[in-house]
Amino acid sequence: TEAHLAAMEAARVLNAYVLETPDKALAMADASDARLAAGEGGPLEGLPLGIKDMFATAGVRTTACSKILETFVPVYESTVSSQLWRDGAVMLGKLNNDEFAMGSSNETSRFGPVISPWRRTGDTAAIVPGGSSGGSAAAVAAGLCLGATGTDTGGSIRQPAAFAGIVGVKPTYGRCSRWGIVAFASSLDQAGPFARSVRDGAILLCSMAGHDPKDTTSVDRPVPDYEAAIGRSVKGMRIGIPKEYRVDGMPEEIEALWARGAAWLKAAGAEMVEVSLPHTKYALPAYYIVAPAEASSNLARYDGVRFGVRVPGDDIVEMYERTRAAGFGPEVRRRVMIGTYVLSAGYYDAYYLRAQQVRTLIKRDFEDCFAAGVDAILTPATPSAAFGVGEKVHGDPVEMYLNDIFTVTVNMAGLPGIAVPGGLDAQGLPLGLQLIGRPFDEETLFSLAAVVE
Ligand code: GLN
Repeated sequence: TEAHLAAMEAARVLNAYVLETPDKALAMADASDARLAAGEGGPLEGLPLGIKDMFATAGVRTTACSKILETFVPVYESTVSSQLWRDGAVMLGKLNNDEFAMGSSNETSRFGPVISPWRRTGDTAAIVPGGSSGGSAAAVAAGLCLGATGTDTGGSIRQPAAFAGIVGVKPTYGRCSRWGIVAFASSLDQAGPFARSVRDGAILLCSMAGHDPKDTTSVDRPVPDYEAAIGRSVKGMRIGIPKEYRVDGMPEEIEALWARGAAWLKAAGAEMVEVSLPHTKYALPAYYIVAPAEASSNLARYDGVRFGVRVPGDDIVEMYERTRAAGFGPEVRRRVMIGTYVLSAGYYDAYYLRAQQVRTLIKRDFEDCFAAGVDAILTPATPSAAFGVGEKVHGDPVEMYLNDIFTVTVNMAGLPGIAVPGGLDAQGLPLGLQLIGRPFDEETLFSLAAVVE
């Protein structure tokens, strides 16, 4: 814990943490030492972790990296983080993210952008860590914690993990409790771990997962020993290569990455089969209707009355308006406007309902694939390596949304996905592979990812 606190201090330039909690960390570490000395201790005893600022942490400021929550100190702890502490982990602090987890580069945070510890060969220009869990990815990659929590609504664990050259796990929808996590799009949000190895990811997910009566969408089924899946043979497994992911203009290095991943799995005895997910091309537009719709509804609660910032006005409506205008950044405002529009009378059927129907078709594509005997699907995690800070955030928002092209389908279908490092591009930046599994079959993903790693 002390070594990590020192590393955090030395690497503040990365802006990975928005709040360091050294006193709490040292007290938790002392308590861990005492338990270990008494021959007790949980599976994560003494391991220092960072927590994305989307998770409510009791007595510790939790802002979702939005100005509107800058004064919010929860009196409760999210279920996922409380399970980590139950198992002995130590909290180092709160990690930066895009405001309300909306973004793919961690540049929409109220606390400013996170800088990736990676650089292009021979170049000093700052690189984004990906988003929205950019702080988690940068901190794990730079050794500022042993592991971290993230949330993934459309790719926010897998994309930054790929950009940072680490492992990121997005479990099946319902695997981890969402209780105490700031809601973005409730039917898509899932918590998951970031780690430097597949094994660490498996160990962390074991603690994070499990049924929680406080979240009715969390599923009551036993949590397997994910670590035991590592080293298990993948011989004879059928791995789907979806032809629709071979998008026009795919950079050569992404094609090469994909081929490399397939070759590694083949060498371990798995069989590659071409599969079709015909509705893939509708996933991104449908996601950017469903996610903002749910966000506009979830964010209605930030009205200056119950949480965080309040800007007074002459009457209550003016107070709401001023509070929300001052409290939300431009990307969040854009999402609220899109969401309100697609849910409004007259447009609901044309947009929201349509998007929900498309979502069903996307889910069926995967079901058909798994029913035909495919055990998992292999794709690139992102359409490119990380880009430069400031390169995309001020341009056409669709440019940024295109980053999620390989990840959003997984959230739309509620499936588990894992991002695992797959080598470097020509400029020396990491590239990630994605494995997508059957619902609640994270074990197969861990077995396969351990082969790729
Ligand atoms: N980049 C996507 C978005 O902005 C996904 C974010 C996420 O998974 N939280 O909506």
